[in-house]
Amino acid sequence: MEQLMRNFFLFLSKNKTLTKLAKKYGFKFGASRFVAGVDIDHAAKKIREINDNGYVVTIDHLGEFIDNEKEARENAEECIHAIVVIDEQNLDSQVSLKLTSMGLDVSEELVMENMRSILDAGKKHNVTVTIDMEDYVNHRRTLDIFMELKKDYENLGTVLQAYLYETEDDITELNEYDPYLRLVKGAYKESPEVAYPVKKDVDENYKKIIKKNLENGNYTAIATHDEAIIEYVKQLENELSLSRDQFEFQMLFGIRKDLQERLMKEGYKMRVYVPYGDDWFAYNMRRLAERPANVMFVLKGVFKK
Ligand code: FAD
Repeated sequence: MEQLMRNFFLFLSKNKTLTKLAKKYGFKFGASRFVAGVDIDHAAKKIREINDNGYVVTIDHLGEFIDNEKEARENAEECIHAIVVIDEQNLDSQVSLKLTSMGLDVSEELVMENMRSILDAGKKHNVTVTIDMEDYVNHRRTLDIFMELKKDYENLGTVLQAYLYETEDDITELNEYDPYLRLVKGAYKESPEVAYPVKKDVDENYKKIIKKNLENGNYTAIATHDEAIIEYVKQLENELSLSRDQFEFQMLFGIRKDLQERLMKEGYKMRVYVPYGDDWFAYNMRRLAERPANVMFVLKGVFKK
């Protein structure tokens, strides 16, 4: 039953019509459970509050299914604006973005142009930018663009997903770029031809790639709410005599706040991923797929006055 619900929510997350309707008819429909606000002003207040409580942040201006140049350029402008606000308000935040929201489905030229403008702004304002990883169809293109940009920009990171068979090789391939890598389990529906279908295997591969990336000496963001994985990282900290400036934990806004607080109080760097914007539907459906029980939180949001 749970697997059926997961598949259902992932199916909804790919639905362009619902995404557009949700954008048009507002933020109210349960979005606020996982999304910080409609614009950067709302998000900036939230970041300040989160920073004041002892956490660092990465913000993500939500945008999916972008199929035209105009919207891709607007999204890039929004990211640059967010970078300026982060600097002006002295917020401790990075920026995360998706290449499809920068026009990956329009042309590679457009993505490169948008990314260079954003990374120039990041350089100027001392803000790190991380490229999220999307579906497998975009996986190779994302890594190629990352490697190309990394030649010119220090302030760039990306994400690898433990559910893909290829990820261990990607860790090896990216090593020469001294990458800033966020490692996650993976949030999309993928075929067993490219991704481990069984959770136990994803978890084992996750541990393997975390260890490999840390042994390579690359800064590693472990982005998970899974306590068993977090315990494993703590063991590695001893086993590999890691210093705490070699890795950090990351979790999503609104999820496992108790665990976020515990790690922060134990002295770990804890980064909260804070999405904002009106294009919230697909993001929220992926969160429901991860934990169908979240549907109650979302429904409460729908009926809240
Ligand atoms: P799971 O085994 O799924 O969950 C472990 C436990 O965490 C569960 O038992 C539950 O108690 C809790 N939990 C997990 N998810 C939820 C939820 N939605 N609501 C409530 N409780 C929950 N994926 C990508 O494919 N690309 C990305 O670029 C990407 N970026 C991410 C950035 C950050 C900071 C984080 C934290 C995740 C990101 N993800 C990304 C999502 C990731 O791939 C997983 O889908 C998500 O983190 C759930 O997996 P988990 O590691 O928490 O482990």
